Amino acid sequence: MNSPSFNCPKCSAPLPAEDAACPNCSVPPPIPTGAPKVVKWWQTNWAVLAVFLAPAVLSFATSKLGIAPLFTFFGSGASGLFCGFVLARRFKGTPVARTLLGLLLSGIIGAASIALCAAGCALGGFQMDMR
Ligand SMILES: [Zn+2]
Repeated sequence: MNSPSFNCPKCSAPLPAEDAACPNCSVPPPIPTGAPKVVKWWQTNWAVLAVFLAPAVLSFATSKLGIAPLFTFFGSGASGLFCGFVLARRFKGTPVARTLLGLLLSGIIGAASIALCAAGCALGGFQMDMR
């Protein structure tokens, strides 16, 4: 992780964020002239991917202990919500539309995560008794 540092255009003091006012000389934030400020897509994607895969990995790791279903259902639910809303935040639209999109994506991602967990459990040798 190398977080880029931003410096005040006037006094070169480090700024807490690219668009923050300088804490040293209170110069207003520089107006970005180049490309619009975005979180690099791969940074978000790696975080989402890590969260998305975490429940499956945990299910696999705990498949011998019999507590894997805990990770499968609670983990996948939390993972789906996180990934869904992170992805939905990237879309332009009203807050309501993005919330709805987030919920929709959460459902899809949560279901995919549960499927992955089931695969992880099967790989780990845990037989899920769904009866
Ligand atoms: Zn300054």
